[in-house]
Amino acid sequence: MGFFQDISPIFKKREIVFIESYKESVDVYTFIFEKEKDLKWKAGQHGVFSILHKTIKKPTRPFSVASAPSESMLKLSMKISDNPSDFKRAMLELKQGMKISMRGPIGPLYIDDNSPSLLIAGGIGITPFRSIVKEIENEGNESANQISLLYIDSKGSFIYKDELNELSKNTSINVSYLTSREDLYKEVDHFSSKYRNTAKYYLGGSKTMVDTITSYLKKKQVFKRNIKKDVFIGYK
Ligand SMILES: Cc1cc2nc3c(=O)[nH]c(=O)nc-3n(C[C@H](O)[C@H](O)[C@H](O)COP(=O)(O)OP(=O)(O)OC[C@H]3O[C@@H](n4cnc5c(N)ncnc54)[C@H](O)[C@@H]3O)c2cc1C
Repeated sequence: MGFFQDISPIFKKREIVFIESYKESVDVYTFIFEKEKDLKWKAGQHGVFSILHKTIKKPTRPFSVASAPSESMLKLSMKISDNPSDFKRAMLELKQGMKISMRGPIGPLYIDDNSPSLLIAGGIGITPFRSIVKEIENEGNESANQISLLYIDSKGSFIYKDELNELSKNTSINVSYLTSREDLYKEVDHFSSKYRNTAKYYLGGSKTMVDTITSYLKKKQVFKRNIKKDVFIGYK
């Protein structure tokens, strides 16, 4: 799949209908939307969403689609603090039947071969990986190769934890919950010493987290071409 195929859906804009929202944790909310029949994406991709029901400055943000293509709805999960941006305030005002717009989904963060895969999620960076592992579980298309998900959150606040635990029972996907960089590096060392450049490495999270782990992987002789990443702009 080439660069243009990964980004060309950005030119298609559609409106999506809000169903419900709920709190996942102290500062994360999930928003569920209807999924139109013709809406297709690859697990791990993101869309670009805009507020329609009121006029705000900067009404548009990218979000990873957290639901799998095989699920019947579109799920977004986002971090919302006590003092949210106008965009997130507007998201919290949505009532059933209201609409936001969506462009995409786009982006390169999807698994497209049978290489062993190390998925590394920092905090809210878990969203694209929920989609990826859920799709593998639903479709039963586990490759014979190893898939490990390392989920790091320094506060130990792991959204989707029950679901991920269930999923790791049903599949051969390993899920590790980590709260320190040291533990993360141990897991990365273990995986990269075993598979090195026969594996692919997928990173999602803040710029600091993604940059730090990218440098670490490069020090471990992992080639740049084997690292795919989504930098969640807007988080430090
Ligand atoms: C591919 C992708 C997927 C994402 N998926 C998710 C997701 O699933 N869940 C989630 O919660 N967030 C996700 N994000 C981040 C999301 O788009 C928002 O940026 C983030 O939620 C912060 O939004 P906000 O409205 O709270 O803060 P904002 O008010 O938008 O910004 C917070 C801070 O970031 C700075 N900032 C904002 N945009 C930029 C920029 N372009 N460059 C540099 N600094 C900037 C602002 O100046 C401000 O200081 C994703 C981002 C990308 C690129």
